[in-house]
Amino acid sequence: MPSPAEALALILERVAPLPPRQVPLPEALGLAAAEALASEEQVPPFTNSAMDGYAVRAEDLAAASTAQPIRLRVLGDLAAGATPDQAVVPGTAWRIMTGAPLPEGADTVVPVEDTTRGQDWVEVRAPLRRGVHVRHAGEDIQAGRSLLVPGRALRPGDLGVLAAVGMPAVPAHPRARVAVLTTGDELVDASERPGPGQIRDANIHSIRAQVAACGAIPAPFPRVRDDRATLTAALREALTADAVLTTGGISVGDYDFVKPILEELGARRVFWKVAQKPGGPLGFWMLGGKPIFGLPGNPVAAMLMMEEYVRPALRRLMGFSALHRPVAEAVLEDGWHGKAGDRRTTFLRVVARHDGGQLRARLTGPQGSAILSSMLEANALAVIPPGVDRVEPGGTVTLHLTELAEDH
Ligand code: AMP
Ligand code: MG
Repeated sequence: MPSPAEALALILERVAPLPPRQVPLPEALGLAAAEALASEEQVPPFTNSAMDGYAVRAEDLAAASTAQPIRLRVLGDLAAGATPDQAVVPGTAWRIMTGAPLPEGADTVVPVEDTTRGQDWVEVRAPLRRGVHVRHAGEDIQAGRSLLVPGRALRPGDLGVLAAVGMPAVPAHPRARVAVLTTGDELVDASERPGPGQIRDANIHSIRAQVAACGAIPAPFPRVRDDRATLTAALREALTADAVLTTGGISVGDYDFVKPILEELGARRVFWKVAQKPGGPLGFWMLGGKPIFGLPGNPVAAMLMMEEYVRPALRRLMGFSALHRPVAEAVLEDGWHGKAGDRRTTFLRVVARHDGGQLRARLTGPQGSAILSSMLEANALAVIPPGVDRVEPGGTVTLHLTELAEDH
């Protein structure tokens, strides 16, 4: 039985990023960039004014003062988007708006508020340093500059820069389409009133939401009954997705068909249990380069397995280089004790908060693996290594931060 770290390694060494494609900018937010991309153009594309004012030759204004203002003849008006048809020669200026191209001959812009604001003539009362309020062609981005970090999620600023350099599409890894199948004859829909022996299907919502929260797309699948033929058909269909997740049906119960059916379909089993609590059963198979995870039916265990193993795998599939949640040390206020001599890793649901520069955590309450309400509060998992059966109150634990820890 692999340890959590071994299980994760067995998964990640088999999962490869989906091939990148050209993605139009409006669809690219949050996808992993596939290439650094070199800009083919410069930004700004031409030298232009950084202010509303007058484009001048700094030399003309060298002697300007309040006592002896310098008068310049205005050649015309340059709005953003317009182009000058005359050069600035000694004694002249263009009225210019922010973003308009600097006319030939001009080297400096006088802000409008430092002038008499004239239409035909303008007066300036102080000299200016040559070159001020001018944005030079290429001063922001030079041609050839690399723009992106491969494997990092595309952010709004990346998309703006790509647009500015004339790249309307970007090579990126696509979102993974993930089939989520919940199995169990006892399950009914959230909108139904359960009959005798029935419970509502929690996993279909929590697991699909976890898939969506890591940027992948949960493909819609109907719930599956514990019946060989139905399950076989559903799994065949599910294998058209980029990854397959099932919940339930992987223990050793009489109706636990997921494992044998997957193997009949040709999936190669890598492991089917991890040495951790809660959880235990977590099947991992590969078929034709696709990862398949058999999650436990128990809703808490299923969510934990998603968090610790499936999420990193889906992120790798989508080309991200950062796969894991932030890790931090925290003080466990209430302490904890488990079974002596347990060789499994224990994951505790905790609420972590920053308090006076320190991260402090408390248990969410009972840690039983069927206590789904512990997930309502938890914003982190405390990882208790094998062999540790006790943490004293105030002892230190390692956290996987599944959400941002709150401030005290
Ligand atoms: P199984 O692995 O199928 O034996 O299921 C283990 C436990 O989890 C049983 O108590 C099931 O009723 C429960 N369970 C299985 N699937 C779900 C689900 N989708 N939503 C809520 N509970 C479930
Ligand atoms: Mg079941």
